[in-house]
Amino acid sequence: MTGRIPEELVDTIRAQADIVDVVSDFVTLKKTGKNYSGLCPFHNEKTPSFSVNPERQIFHCFGCGKGGNVFTFLMEHEKMTFIEAVRNVAGRLNIVLPDTSRGQGESSEAESLARVTQFAARFFHEQLLSCPTDSPVREYVARRGLSDTTIHTFLIGYAPEGWDTLIHAARRQDIGADWLEKAGLAKAGNQRTYDAFRNRLMFPILGPGGRVVGFGGRALSDEDQPKYLNSPESPIYHKSREVYGLYQSREAIRRVGSVVIVEGYMDMLSLYQHGIDTAIATCGTALTRDHARLVGRYAREVTLVYDSDTAGTRAALRGIEPLVEAGLWTRILQLPAGEDPDTFVRKHSGEAFRKRLGHPDSIADFVADQFDLSQADVREEALKTLAGLINKTADLRHRERYIEESYARLPVPQSLLAPILRRPKTEHAQPPGSQKTRFEDPERELVRLMLQDVEIAFIAEELVHPDEFTGDAYRTIFQQRLDSLKGDGASGPAALIDQARDEETARIISELTASEDTGADPESRARDYIARIKRDRLKREMAELMKKIHLAQETGDDSLGETLAALQQLKREEQALRRTAE
Ligand SMILES: [Zn+2]
Repeated sequence: MTGRIPEELVDTIRAQADIVDVVSDFVTLKKTGKNYSGLCPFHNEKTPSFSVNPERQIFHCFGCGKGGNVFTFLMEHEKMTFIEAVRNVAGRLNIVLPDTSRGQGESSEAESLARVTQFAARFFHEQLLSCPTDSPVREYVARRGLSDTTIHTFLIGYAPEGWDTLIHAARRQDIGADWLEKAGLAKAGNQRTYDAFRNRLMFPILGPGGRVVGFGGRALSDEDQPKYLNSPESPIYHKSREVYGLYQSREAIRRVGSVVIVEGYMDMLSLYQHGIDTAIATCGTALTRDHARLVGRYAREVTLVYDSDTAGTRAALRGIEPLVEAGLWTRILQLPAGEDPDTFVRKHSGEAFRKRLGHPDSIADFVADQFDLSQADVREEALKTLAGLINKTADLRHRERYIEESYARLPVPQSLLAPILRRPKTEHAQPPGSQKTRFEDPERELVRLMLQDVEIAFIAEELVHPDEFTGDAYRTIFQQRLDSLKGDGASGPAALIDQARDEETARIISELTASEDTGADPESRARDYIARIKRDRLKREMAELMKKIHLAQETGDDSLGETLAALQQLKREEQALRRTAE
């Protein structure tokens, strides 16, 4: 499973890894007791049920059930192969791996694509840096006011004119045109394949982990259409999920807990240059639920600042819904007519923008501004729009505030708004560790104790036979736990996850180890579970024998006596078990 990286080295890397540190690159974690918790990056939620246990080096989500160790996390979240995940963690620890020159089959498609986009981003960047200052692209950059620091920080580049500059450069690095095509950087024509981006200023889009996943390309002159060309969807780029600038701004956004969402690459960069370092841009698409979810991992408050034209206003109105739905406290900053964030900061100042940012409009203000409230029918439409948004709000306190603001802003009696507001749906998500199965499954509970306590593992080995388990997964973990304790490799739960034969088994291991067992006297509980497992096994066997006895009575089979004797024996065993349990 581990390919050419020696097992002991994988054990070392796993043992030294800091899962909290790795997960923190993607999820904002808060310390809660011994563990850390945050919003799950694998499913949509408003209250955290995602838990990271630093002591056991595992993560688990009590909402969707995803769980595993540091490698599993990177494999699931960043779509890495096992070897790539090991390499990634080794890199963070400055552990040098033996050079297992990577063959074709060894990397995942995602990883290969990421290497291609990374190469292209570097290539475009170098092209821009090597252009003379009087070249059209340099003049364009100067006109837009992009500083050298910004160009470096955001790896901004230039896709040269000509049809195959990138293709040639890639070939020199052994990257075939087919890979460029897969990454959306080349297109196949009738005669030959050609560069997809030509004579454009290039904005690499980084995923939350810092990998280049796609590009936005701005035409240098207005005759070139479209004005913005974006990477097509690929296995690593989904425009409904990526936002521009998040990777570079994530620390600042986390620090203040709020984010400014703008429409364009230039808006985001311009704000950044003017000292507003908490902005991100949607990459030429409407704001989606996935965007809202992603943003929600870093901030709880959002201010939308869209162009103040009809299209911008409409986009902002549409953008509110996924944000409130994700439980984000949402405001809108309306700029003077005809302005966008880029033109505004350049004309006025970062300070002027910041001031306005301090007093954004409420959703009610914004909606009200879009309607002529002097007309009764229009007023009703405004009300419906607003109620529609408030009804989507996930957070109850937000909901109360949005309603108050609506009453304050709209010239309507409460009796009009109240009926359109539905009662809120309440969330049923449970906080980490509060999950309790209604009926304790003794196999499950025994395995849980075995994973947490080596002594109990050995007690169980003495008293239970694997065949006495009815649950395949629990039997497997039971066996695996004992095998690894007796082997000479790593044997903790995090290591077991890598050795697990399938995803489901790994998931159960992470689930059973994620929450600390706090019950008293684990050893006597373990003995009790063992007794229950054995009793259950005896009951099953007795039921089988009873069936045989009935059959023998009907058919006059002469095995009846033998079977009855066997049943007697089982009954005695059962009674003995009951006595020891009391
Ligand atoms: Zn989840």
